Amino acid sequence: MHTKPQASLKFEEYLKHSRSGRLYFSPEAKFGGTSSAWDISEMKQKLGTDVSNLIPFCHAVLGCDTTSHLYGIGKGKAVQLLLSNKSFRDSAAIFGDKLALLDDIVAAGERALLILYGCPDVSNLDTARKLIFHRKVSTATTFVPPQELQPTQAAAKYHSLRVYCQVQIWLGNPVDPLRLGWKLQDNEVFAPIKTDLPAAPSQLLKIIKCSCRIDGCDSEKCTCKKNRLECTIACRTCKGSSLIKVLPILRRRLEEEYVKL
Ligand SMILES: [Zn+2]
Ligand SMILES: [Zn+2]
Repeated sequence: MHTKPQASLKFEEYLKHSRSGRLYFSPEAKFGGTSSAWDISEMKQKLGTDVSNLIPFCHAVLGCDTTSHLYGIGKGKAVQLLLSNKSFRDSAAIFGDKLALLDDIVAAGERALLILYGCPDVSNLDTARKLIFHRKVSTATTFVPPQELQPTQAAAKYHSLRVYCQVQIWLGNPVDPLRLGWKLQDNEVFAPIKTDLPAAPSQLLKIIKCSCRIDGCDSEKCTCKKNRLECTIACRTCKGSSLIKVLPILRRRLEEEYVKL
């Protein structure tokens, strides 16, 4: 996930001021490049009101401060699709509807992702992922980097909910992040729900385990960390460090409940 606080601040300013007056947007120049300025009012006129209103969706679905970046897909592609693809526009419009139902958001998000990944005729992301994987394996000379595949249906569901959450916040509508792809971690910080499926079939996960010493799982040497997996009960010493971190919180909560009784 990439975060670009500067760009996002400017984007929020754009939303605030683009409804009145003139505003210029000037992204920071890339290394060795030159900076350019965009006349937002003129841009809005050229794109038309319908497409302009869907820009927040494009920004959020392809990655902003609170949503994950889709590997290998630039924001220009989403704007092109807004202009040329009605199905993409219809999906994007759901994210601006403050009364949208969760099932509709998830379905619209999946449709938009299928179009972004160039699989508009495939029925769902898991099927598309399998198709692309087979295609890449048959032509690749080295291994297929997993980040080049589409997100799974289960991961896309939470991504879409967070995209909806962010778009509604930009539009000034009240939202409950805990219904929209976020969970409360350690009772104080919001953390994204990445998926509701295990990272791999359980038979495969059993093979990956670490042998770190106590408290060693924070280091880069941890096999689980290297594979971006949570430690599990199969790990030699930590026996699932995340579980160990959660236990004191559970115990405290139980004690509080006990005091109430
Ligand atoms: Zn470890
Ligand atoms: Zn481990």
